[in-house]
Amino acid sequence: MQKKSLLYSGKVKSVYQTEDPERLVMEFRDDATAFNGVKHELLENKGKVSNIFNAFIMQKLEAAGIKTHFIEQISDNESLVKPLDMLRVECVVRNVAAGSLSKRYGIEEGAELRAPIFEFFLKDDELGDPMINDEHIVAFGWGTREDINKMRELTIKVNSVLKELFLQGEIILVDYKLEFGYNNGELLLGDEFTPDNCRLWDASTHEKMDKDRFRRGLGSVVESYIDVGRRIGISSL
Ligand code: UDP
Repeated sequence: MQKKSLLYSGKVKSVYQTEDPERLVMEFRDDATAFNGVKHELLENKGKVSNIFNAFIMQKLEAAGIKTHFIEQISDNESLVKPLDMLRVECVVRNVAAGSLSKRYGIEEGAELRAPIFEFFLKDDELGDPMINDEHIVAFGWGTREDINKMRELTIKVNSVLKELFLQGEIILVDYKLEFGYNNGELLLGDEFTPDNCRLWDASTHEKMDKDRFRRGLGSVVESYIDVGRRIGISSL
């Protein structure tokens, strides 16, 4: 599939049009960014590792009945995806306290939660992605009640599939962020699922194996992503 014009370039991915309007090329670059782009580095092989990781997870989710924009991996660092009209919200599920949740409520990182927590955030870098609820989404027209229900249902379904998958590799899925969009009237999971947008801890040592290694300058970022991939059965990593 021939890449044509650049449609969109984000912090770590670029999206290109192809001759088929129903297929886009999603390219994972080697960029690593944190704190809204303030910290930025190029990490060798990150694009390739993220692309392989994302393809594996998207296929697992499809197999579990969760529809995604993913079509197929076409090169080391590129995959074909369906075009989406993205909803402007980020869906987060947390199984263990960490990150902004710990800061916001003064809860120690690693504290067990009695039940998973679902949260919405507005996707807006300039505003620092503020937390929002159903009422904001409906009142400001960012989505309908139906969108809200579907996003919540799908995000929680992803939790049951992926918590189990990571646990098989002796890894705890602490939290993650998903984004959804419409393709021909159908709500699909979009964006990516990689260690860049979730937290993964070794089950026995609680060692961080995700983007927090980059955020907190712990080193061995890509090596950790590869380690996670191998532990959940990605044979090409
Ligand atoms: N997350 C993300 N993109 C964002 C914000 C958060 O992928 O713009 C992910 C993050 O990696 C973590 C989860 O969503 O797995 C919850 O993030 P949190 O609210 O704790 O914010 P952070 O500590 O990342 O600022």
